Amino acid sequence: KVALAARELSFRYDPATPLLENWSAEFHSGEVVAVTGPSGRGKSTLLYLLGLMLKPSNGEILLDGRALHDRSDRERAAARAGRYGFVFQDAALDPSRTVLDNILETTLYRGGRRDDFVRRADALMEQLGVALRRDAKPGQVSGGQAQRIALCRALIGNPGVLLADEPTGNLDPASSDVVVQALHEQAGRGAAVVVVTHDPTLVERCHRRIEL
Ligand code: ADP
Ligand code: ADP
Repeated sequence: KVALAARELSFRYDPATPLLENWSAEFHSGEVVAVTGPSGRGKSTLLYLLGLMLKPSNGEILLDGRALHDRSDRERAAARAGRYGFVFQDAALDPSRTVLDNILETTLYRGGRRDDFVRRADALMEQLGVALRRDAKPGQVSGGQAQRIALCRALIGNPGVLLADEPTGNLDPASSDVVVQALHEQAGRGAAVVVVTHDPTLVERCHRRIEL
Protein backbone atom coordinates (compact mmCIF):
# COMPACT_ATOMS: atom_id res chain seq x y z
CA LYS A 1 0.00 0.00 0.00
CA VAL A 2 1.31 3.42 -0.96
CA ALA A 3 1.42 5.62 2.16
CA LEU A 4 3.22 8.60 0.71
CA ALA A 5 3.69 9.70 -2.88
CA ALA A 6 5.46 12.53 -4.65
CA ARG A 7 4.16 13.31 -8.15
CA GLU A 8 6.03 15.40 -10.68
CA LEU A 9 7.59 17.41 -7.92
CA SER A 10 9.60 20.52 -8.74
CA PHE A 11 11.30 22.77 -6.24
CA ARG A 12 13.81 25.62 -6.19
CA TYR A 13 14.76 28.09 -3.49
CA ASP A 14 16.19 30.38 -6.10
CA PRO A 15 14.90 30.61 -9.71
CA ALA A 16 18.32 29.95 -11.23
CA THR A 17 18.97 26.65 -9.41
CA PRO A 18 16.23 24.04 -9.58
CA LEU A 19 16.80 21.30 -7.00
CA LEU A 20 14.04 18.93 -8.10
CA GLU A 21 12.36 18.74 -11.50
CA ASN A 22 9.36 16.50 -12.18
CA TRP A 23 10.49 14.11 -9.49
CA SER A 24 8.16 11.23 -8.62
CA ALA A 25 8.36 8.44 -6.08
CA GLU A 26 6.13 6.20 -3.99
CA PHE A 27 6.77 5.06 -0.45
CA HIS A 28 4.99 1.95 0.76
CA SER A 29 3.72 1.01 4.12
CA GLY A 30 6.20 -1.42 5.73
CA GLU A 31 9.16 -0.19 3.71
CA VAL A 32 12.42 1.46 4.80
CA VAL A 33 13.79 3.55 1.92
CA ALA A 34 17.18 5.27 1.81
CA VAL A 35 17.57 8.57 -0.05
CA THR A 36 21.19 9.19 -1.01
CA GLY A 37 23.10 11.69 -3.10
CA PRO A 38 25.92 14.21 -2.91
CA SER A 39 25.96 16.96 -0.32
CA GLY A 40 23.90 19.98 -1.37
CA ARG A 41 21.83 17.93 -3.82
CA GLY A 42 18.56 18.63 -2.00
CA LYS A 43 18.03 15.57 0.19
CA SER A 44 17.02 17.52 3.31
CA THR A 45 14.85 19.75 1.14
CA LEU A 46 13.09 16.68 -0.27
CA LEU A 47 12.41 15.48 3.27
CA TYR A 48 10.89 18.90 4.16
CA LEU A 49 8.70 18.67 1.05
CA LEU A 50 7.58 15.12 1.88
CA GLY A 51 6.98 16.30 5.44
CA LEU A 52 4.73 19.15 4.26
CA MET A 53 7.03 21.78 5.79
CA LEU A 54 7.80 23.32 2.40
CA LYS A 55 5.44 23.79 -0.50
CA PRO A 56 6.62 22.49 -3.89
CA SER A 57 6.92 24.91 -6.83
CA ASN A 58 5.03 22.29 -8.86
CA GLY A 59 3.65 18.83 -8.36
CA GLU A 60 1.89 17.03 -5.55
CA ILE A 61 2.49 15.29 -2.24
CA LEU A 62 -0.11 12.68 -1.41
CA LEU A 63 -0.58 11.17 2.02
CA ASP A 64 -2.77 8.06 1.91
CA GLY A 65 -3.89 9.24 -1.54
CA ARG A 66 -4.88 12.73 -0.39
CA ALA A 67 -3.08 15.70 -1.94
CA LEU A 68 -1.87 17.85 0.95
CA HIS A 69 0.96 19.97 -0.48
CA ASP A 70 -1.26 22.97 -1.29
CA ARG A 71 -3.36 23.01 1.90
CA SER A 72 -3.13 25.85 4.38
CA ASP A 73 -0.35 25.92 6.96
CA ARG A 74 -2.86 24.88 9.58
CA GLU A 75 -4.17 21.90 7.63
CA ARG A 76 -0.67 20.74 6.79
CA ALA A 77 0.38 21.09 10.43
CA ALA A 78 -2.64 19.05 11.49
CA ALA A 79 -1.86 16.31 8.96
CA ARG A 80 1.74 16.24 10.19
CA ALA A 81 0.80 16.08 13.83
CA GLY A 82 -1.54 13.14 13.33
CA ARG A 83 0.50 11.00 11.01
CA TYR A 84 4.15 11.95 10.75
CA GLY A 85 7.32 11.49 12.72
CA PHE A 86 10.20 13.71 11.69
CA VAL A 87 13.85 13.57 12.77
CA PHE A 88 15.79 16.70 11.85
CA GLN A 89 19.46 16.37 11.03
CA ASP A 90 20.41 18.56 14.01
CA ALA A 91 17.80 16.90 16.30
CA ALA A 92 16.18 20.31 17.00
CA LEU A 93 15.40 19.61 20.66
CA ASP A 94 13.97 22.39 22.82
CA PRO A 95 16.89 23.41 25.10
CA SER A 96 14.59 24.66 27.86
CA ARG A 97 12.84 21.31 28.46
CA THR A 98 14.11 18.03 29.80
CA VAL A 99 14.72 15.12 27.47
CA LEU A 100 11.52 13.45 28.67
CA ASP A 101 9.45 16.60 28.09
CA ASN A 102 10.95 16.99 24.63
CA ILE A 103 9.83 13.47 23.77
CA LEU A 104 6.35 14.09 25.23
CA GLU A 105 5.91 17.44 23.48
CA THR A 106 4.05 16.11 20.45
CA THR A 107 1.67 14.07 22.62
CA LEU A 108 0.34 17.13 24.46
CA TYR A 109 -2.11 17.86 21.66
CA ARG A 110 -3.49 14.34 21.38
CA GLY A 111 -6.02 12.46 23.36
CA GLY A 112 -4.60 9.94 25.79
CA ARG A 113 -3.26 9.76 29.31
CA ARG A 114 0.05 11.34 30.21
CA ASP A 115 0.98 8.23 32.24
CA ASP A 116 0.66 6.06 29.16
CA PHE A 117 2.83 8.41 27.09
CA VAL A 118 5.43 8.57 29.87
CA ARG A 119 5.56 4.77 29.96
CA ARG A 120 6.00 4.63 26.19
CA ALA A 121 8.65 7.38 26.31
CA ASP A 122 10.55 5.42 28.98
CA ALA A 123 10.38 2.25 26.87
CA LEU A 124 11.67 4.10 23.80
CA MET A 125 14.51 5.75 25.75
CA GLU A 126 15.45 2.33 27.13
CA GLN A 127 15.39 0.75 23.68
CA LEU A 128 17.49 3.53 22.14
CA GLY A 129 19.99 3.64 25.00
CA VAL A 130 19.26 7.14 26.30
CA ALA A 131 17.24 6.30 29.43
CA LEU A 132 19.94 7.72 31.73
CA ARG A 133 19.47 11.14 30.08
CA ARG A 134 15.73 11.24 30.86
CA ASP A 135 15.86 14.25 33.19
CA ALA A 136 18.81 16.05 31.56
CA LYS A 137 18.48 19.15 29.40
CA PRO A 138 19.48 18.80 25.72
CA GLY A 139 22.54 21.00 26.34
CA GLN A 140 23.98 18.24 28.52
CA VAL A 141 23.68 15.38 26.03
CA SER A 142 26.03 14.35 23.22
CA GLY A 143 25.19 14.78 19.52
CA GLY A 144 24.57 11.05 19.14
CA GLN A 145 22.29 10.99 22.18
CA ALA A 146 20.38 14.02 20.86
CA GLN A 147 19.77 12.16 17.59
CA ARG A 148 18.38 9.13 19.39
CA ILE A 149 16.23 11.34 21.63
CA ALA A 150 14.84 13.02 18.51
CA LEU A 151 14.01 9.56 17.16
CA CYS A 152 12.15 8.75 20.41
CA ARG A 153 10.16 11.96 19.96
CA ALA A 154 9.33 11.02 16.37
CA LEU A 155 8.28 7.49 17.35
CA ILE A 156 6.13 8.21 20.37
CA GLY A 157 3.04 9.02 18.29
CA ASN A 158 3.41 5.73 16.35
CA PRO A 159 3.72 7.59 13.00
CA GLY A 160 2.47 6.10 9.74
CA VAL A 161 5.19 8.04 7.95
CA LEU A 162 8.62 8.40 9.52
CA LEU A 163 11.08 10.80 7.87
CA ALA A 164 14.62 10.91 9.27
CA ASP A 165 17.57 13.03 8.18
CA GLU A 166 20.90 11.23 8.81
CA PRO A 167 19.57 9.31 11.82
CA THR A 168 22.88 7.45 12.28
CA GLY A 169 25.10 10.43 11.41
CA ASN A 170 26.86 10.76 14.77
CA LEU A 171 26.59 7.21 16.04
CA ASP A 172 28.98 4.39 16.84
CA PRO A 173 28.14 1.02 15.21
CA ALA A 174 26.30 -0.38 18.25
CA SER A 175 24.05 2.67 18.58
CA SER A 176 23.50 2.69 14.80
CA ASP A 177 22.30 -0.90 15.05
CA VAL A 178 19.74 0.05 17.65
CA VAL A 179 18.50 2.92 15.47
CA VAL A 180 18.25 0.74 12.35
CA GLN A 181 16.36 -1.82 14.40
CA ALA A 182 13.90 0.85 15.60
CA LEU A 183 13.33 2.07 12.01
CA HIS A 184 12.56 -1.49 10.90
CA GLU A 185 10.23 -2.03 13.84
CA GLN A 186 8.24 1.07 12.91
CA ALA A 187 8.04 -0.16 9.31
CA GLY A 188 6.85 -3.49 10.75
CA ARG A 189 3.98 -1.60 12.39
CA GLY A 190 2.99 -0.39 8.93
CA ALA A 191 4.91 2.86 8.61
CA ALA A 192 6.55 4.12 5.44
CA VAL A 193 10.09 5.02 6.58
CA VAL A 194 12.30 7.37 4.55
CA VAL A 195 15.87 8.07 5.64
CA VAL A 196 18.35 10.48 4.15
CA THR A 197 21.77 9.00 4.74
CA HIS A 198 25.43 8.77 3.76
CA ASP A 199 25.93 5.73 5.96
CA PRO A 200 26.63 2.66 3.75
CA THR A 201 25.67 0.28 6.56
CA LEU A 202 22.27 1.92 6.87
CA VAL A 203 21.76 1.99 3.08
CA GLU A 204 22.52 -1.72 2.92
CA ARG A 205 19.90 -2.45 5.56
CA CYS A 206 17.13 -0.53 3.79
CA HIS A 207 14.72 -2.30 1.48
CA ARG A 208 15.36 0.16 -1.32
CA ARG A 209 17.56 3.09 -2.22
CA ILE A 210 16.71 6.21 -4.21
CA GLU A 211 19.70 8.18 -5.48
CA LEU A 212 19.04 11.88 -6.00
P1 ADP B 1 21.45 18.04 1.04
O1 ADP B 1 20.54 17.62 2.18
O2 ADP B 1 21.42 17.09 -0.12
O3 ADP B 1 22.84 18.32 1.49
P2 ADP B 1 19.91 20.50 1.11
O4 ADP B 1 18.51 20.14 0.81
O5 ADP B 1 20.28 20.76 2.52
O6 ADP B 1 20.86 19.41 0.44
O7 ADP B 1 20.29 21.80 0.28
C1 ADP B 1 20.21 21.83 -1.15
C2 ADP B 1 20.66 23.18 -1.67
O8 ADP B 1 19.72 24.19 -1.30
C3 ADP B 1 21.99 23.64 -1.11
O9 ADP B 1 22.67 24.31 -2.13
C4 ADP B 1 21.59 24.59 -0.01
O10 ADP B 1 22.60 25.55 0.18
C5 ADP B 1 20.33 25.20 -0.55
N1 ADP B 1 19.40 25.60 0.53
C6 ADP B 1 19.03 24.83 1.57
N2 ADP B 1 18.14 25.48 2.36
C7 ADP B 1 17.94 26.70 1.78
C8 ADP B 1 17.12 27.82 2.09
N3 ADP B 1 16.33 27.83 3.18
N4 ADP B 1 17.17 28.89 1.27
C9 ADP B 1 17.96 28.88 0.17
N5 ADP B 1 18.75 27.85 -0.20
C10 ADP B 1 18.74 26.77 0.60
P1 ADP C 1 11.44 -7.80 4.16
O1 ADP C 1 11.27 -9.09 4.91
O2 ADP C 1 10.57 -6.69 4.68
O3 ADP C 1 11.44 -7.93 2.67
P2 ADP C 1 14.26 -8.08 4.28
O4 ADP C 1 14.38 -9.16 5.30
O5 ADP C 1 14.37 -8.39 2.84
O6 ADP C 1 12.90 -7.30 4.55
O7 ADP C 1 15.31 -6.97 4.67
C1 ADP C 1 15.64 -5.89 3.85
C2 ADP C 1 16.90 -5.27 4.38
O8 ADP C 1 16.66 -4.72 5.69
C3 ADP C 1 18.00 -6.31 4.55
O9 ADP C 1 19.21 -5.70 4.16
C4 ADP C 1 18.00 -6.63 6.03
O10 ADP C 1 19.29 -6.91 6.49
C5 ADP C 1 17.49 -5.36 6.65
N1 ADP C 1 16.68 -5.62 7.84
C6 ADP C 1 15.52 -6.30 7.89
N2 ADP C 1 15.02 -6.33 9.14
C7 ADP C 1 15.91 -5.65 9.91
C8 ADP C 1 15.94 -5.32 11.27
N3 ADP C 1 15.01 -5.68 12.13
N4 ADP C 1 16.98 -4.58 11.71
C9 ADP C 1 17.93 -4.21 10.86
N5 ADP C 1 17.96 -4.48 9.56
C10 ADP C 1 16.96 -5.20 9.08
